[in-house]
This record gives sequence, structure tokens and C-alpha cells, in this order.
Amino acid sequence: MSDVPKSHPRYLSLSLRDQIVKGVELGITSVHGLIAHGRGEAYDYLLCEKTHSFAIKAIQAAAVMLKDALHPVISVNGNVAALVPDNLIELSKLLKAPLEVNIFHTEDGREQRICDYLLDNGALNVLMPTKEAQLNFIDSNRRFVNPEGIYKSDVVFVPLEDGDRCEALIRMGKRVITIDLNPLSRTSKQASITIVDNVVRALPILCNEIRSIEDKSDHQELITEYNNDKVLQSALHHISRGVDG
Ligand code: ATP
Repeated sequence: MSDVPKSHPRYLSLSLRDQIVKGVELGITSVHGLIAHGRGEAYDYLLCEKTHSFAIKAIQAAAVMLKDALHPVISVNGNVAALVPDNLIELSKLLKAPLEVNIFHTEDGREQRICDYLLDNGALNVLMPTKEAQLNFIDSNRRFVNPEGIYKSDVVFVPLEDGDRCEALIRMGKRVITIDLNPLSRTSKQASITIVDNVVRALPILCNEIRSIEDKSDHQELITEYNNDKVLQSALHHISRGVDG
């Protein structure tokens, strides 16, 4: 990373900034993604940049839901492509699930560049949005999906979701698993499972959790007993306790 020494107390956070900036330079991350990243950083700071027990609970339920899905799909935007390409590809291989490019700002060929970036990093199956399949209940570019991917999926894994599309997916009867550092976002509140953690910490844990599930029927109670509102309340409680001192 630029000139920041590894001993710098904020080395990790600063190196993530560099990765996002590199994503913009490569043309895979939108400049708007810098702002989204900044909002994430602020919440991560309030969460002490740690994976908490409420996130682990959500990750465990997410692992079972993904293993149990008939057609799981992993939705990819420019921020996660820049931050965690290897983890996304690993998850896709573990679940035998496609990665699908889906972004809000579609400036000059960015969708194709994200696809190529994933393939160059070893992805086996990357789907692109099409005009043939569209989501209901949403007007933005994110309504265009792939008929073999998000359109026919039963479970959509969307690290860093947009609230409008999350709502549309849920209204179409799909289950949505998201990772979002902000427990107050519309996405967090609407998703079936919200992992309140940084994608860079949560994804490796999710992959390990999926690997450790031998017999998914033994783990069903992780889903039946899961309560997303409680998880969000725990995250908010943690944040307000920190703020109150
Ligand atoms: P919503 O429409 O759901 O209310 P929003 O408008 O607040 O979302 P967006 O700009 O669509 O937010 O997406 C950014 C979201 O992603 C923010 O909630 C931010 O906290 C979260 N975020 C950003 N970077 C990360 C990261 N590395 N890990 C997890 N979450 C992140």
C-alpha cells in the first residue's frame, strides 16, 4: 500500500481504502462506491472493527440457508469485486452457485469489466444482467437480471445491497442474505438475514461455516430460531453502548 507502514494503527482500514481506490482506477468500482465505503467505515468504527456474536449468529444461519437453497446466487457490485474477489469466487465454488453482476451505476462498460475481473481471478461462472429478465417492483438499472441467475433464484446472497432491490427481491418471494455494517439501512431491515459486519471479515467466516456443515438437516434450528430483528437490535445496542461510553 502507498506509504503507510504496516505498524500504523489504522493500517487495515487504510489498506481497504486503497483497494477501493484501485477498484475505481481499474474501472470496476463506481466513484459513488467511495461514498458507500465511507459510510461503512463509520459504522465499522462504531463496531470497534470486530466481528461480534450477533454477526456470527447471522453467518451460521446464512450458511445453512445457502446450503439448503435450490438455486442460490451471489450478486456482485463494484465495491465487493474490489474488496473481496477471492472470497466471492471461493463461495461460488463451495455452493456451486453463479456470481451475477448487478450494479446501480452502469457507466461505460463497468458491468463487463467486473465480469472480466472475476474471470481473471479464477471465477468459473459469472452471469450478466439481461433485458429478457426483469425484477418487478423496481425501476432502477438493478431490475435487469439473468434468467438463469437472480431471476430464478430462491436465495440471493447480496453483500452490500441497495434497499430498493432488497425490497423487490423479498416481494418476489426470494430470501435475501446481506452483509451490511449499517443495522439501520433499509436493506438491513428488510433482508431475511443481515450480517452486520465488514465483508472482508464476514466472508471468510461464512466460507468456513459452509465447509463445516456436513449434514444440513442437523442445522435447521439455526434458521427456525433465527430472528433478524433481534440481531439488528443487538448490533444497535452495541453501537449505542459504545457511544454512551
Ligand atoms: P439502503 O438503501 O439499504 O438504506 P444505503 O443507501 O444506506 O442503503 P448504499 O449506498 O446503497 O447504502 O450502500 C452502502 C451500504 O453498504 C451502507 O449501508 C454501508 O454501511 C455498507 N457498507 C459499505 N462498505 C461496507 C463493507 N466493507 N462491509 C459491509 N458493509 C459495508
